[in-house]
Amino acid sequence: MKMTQLFFKTMRETPSDAEIISHQLMLRAGLIRKQAAGIYSFMPLGYRVLKKIEAIIREEMDAAGAQELIMPSLLPAESYRESGRWDAFGDEMFRLKDRNQRDFCLGPTHEEIFTETVRDYARSYRDLPLILYQIQTKYRDEIRPRFGVMRSREFVMKDAYSFDRDDDGLDVSYRAMDKAYRRIFDRLGLDYVVIDADTGTMGGSGSQEFTVKSEAGESEIVQCTECGYAASVEKAQCVAGAKAEAVDSMQPEYVATPNARTIAEVTAFLGCRDTDLAKTILYKADGKPVAAMVRGDREVNEAKLMSYLGCSSLEMADEESVTTITGAEVGFAGPVGLPVRIIADLEIEGSPRLIVGANRTGFHLKHVAPGRDFNAEYADIRIITGTDPCPRCGAALEFGRGIEAGHIFKLGTKYSESMGCIYLDETGTGHPMVMGCYGIGVNRTMAAIIEQHHDENGIIWPMSVAPYQAVIVPVNVLDEKQAEIADNIYSELQSRGVEVLLDDRNERAGVKFKDADLIGIPIRVNVGRKAAEGLVEFKLRHEDKARELPVDMAADVVLEAIKTART
Ligand code: ATP
Ligand code: MG
Repeated sequence: MKMTQLFFKTMRETPSDAEIISHQLMLRAGLIRKQAAGIYSFMPLGYRVLKKIEAIIREEMDAAGAQELIMPSLLPAESYRESGRWDAFGDEMFRLKDRNQRDFCLGPTHEEIFTETVRDYARSYRDLPLILYQIQTKYRDEIRPRFGVMRSREFVMKDAYSFDRDDDGLDVSYRAMDKAYRRIFDRLGLDYVVIDADTGTMGGSGSQEFTVKSEAGESEIVQCTECGYAASVEKAQCVAGAKAEAVDSMQPEYVATPNARTIAEVTAFLGCRDTDLAKTILYKADGKPVAAMVRGDREVNEAKLMSYLGCSSLEMADEESVTTITGAEVGFAGPVGLPVRIIADLEIEGSPRLIVGANRTGFHLKHVAPGRDFNAEYADIRIITGTDPCPRCGAALEFGRGIEAGHIFKLGTKYSESMGCIYLDETGTGHPMVMGCYGIGVNRTMAAIIEQHHDENGIIWPMSVAPYQAVIVPVNVLDEKQAEIADNIYSELQSRGVEVLLDDRNERAGVKFKDADLIGIPIRVNVGRKAAEGLVEFKLRHEDKARELPVDMAADVVLEAIKTART
């Protein structure tokens, strides 16, 4: 492609509303154009990258035995009503009505539609296992669309769904997808971790996220410095810690703590450590009151608490409910005599004596012994911190951030049961199919690649996804010799199957070099003054130095560089 004909526009300034590098560079390189908040066009250069990512995904999904199809984005409400998600999606779902006032939505994800389709087409154990996928546009009315295509309202997702006879079958499909995902992310040149997104109280590992390491990411992750354990901070397992011996047999005793409600206030007032205290926090889980207890230096992990309780909503109890339940003002709730279910963190069980709220305004209770003075259910419900050891091997943990680019999930029979997706076994008995679902955000992945592959001058595309592999830059297009040599190299590369640009614009060399760097073309061949002596310059985007080459070697060297590129 000649750049005089290419539909593109680069920008020197950093757009003020773009906070993260990938968003800035995608706008500056003219890869995307904002249409509305969280809605973007992909311009020719950007679209080439998107298609390359899709092609890699497609190759690996096909190689793993998955079959591609395409489903509509405009979907009738009935499908989501059947699974109960028409309501559950809430405001995140884009909804609309047709001319007859029938409800429709723009599909946010397609579990229901795949389940219906397989229900209608596959009836027998002979039809299984089955993995289907599509690469298709999804719509989610995100509360906060931001970071460009990283969290947008219209985006391309590869979503795959597996259907198996039983859990063992699902394991096989899940492992096949896991392997395909690793190959995909490797080929995309990404440095990523696969984190447990479903551990602890739920048991088993039913869900993992492919997280691209990046400070721009929204996921907080912990990684073991020794054994490779990795999890989201939300799901990372905390261990109970050593169980301390009871230090004395003292009975609970009221201590006046006027106006001391918070942990900081109580420790300051009593002159104790925050680890001597336990917080008791009242929640409403699906509307019912429950209490959660963690040590004074810890925080409740609401995601873990929700999964332990198996509830679908969890909110802190309001002031009025707290007063009704505890008989005291907010700040003095405690477990002794509390008339609600108490879920206490594992560490509480191991604490011999605690200072807790007294359920009496202005008072705390000391010498409170779990098991003796109150009963609770013990579970891992706290947020992991830097002082926690690796739950697998006990070594130190490291905290970081990442971008969730892919997600694999064992759904089990959630959808097949509610939607009647049944197969008949050898004896003619019906069973719900056991399902898995597997997503990759294609545009988000593109942004993630840029987060990991850039420098101060712009994007540095891995060869596997670069919009063009090479650019030929005649330094002065008005110089006939230069123009001719550049044109020859360009034609030769084209005929040898290289995706190549010719920067035939009548611009200063500096402008052309800057654009090539900003757009991130991996190989640049400069045809300048020495062309007359039969020499051109060869430069890789990720290296500082250029080297001189005889003109007649240029095409071979370019081809060799493409062949030997790592990704
Ligand atoms: P998040 O926690 O970031 O909202 P999610 O859990 O809602 O993600 P899934 O429903 O698992 O995401 O979707 C599968 C993949 O689709 C994600 O791993 C991500 O790569 C991509 N994705 C999800 N939401 C968006 C979005 N708003 N914009 C771009 N990509 C998205
Ligand atoms: Mg989401």
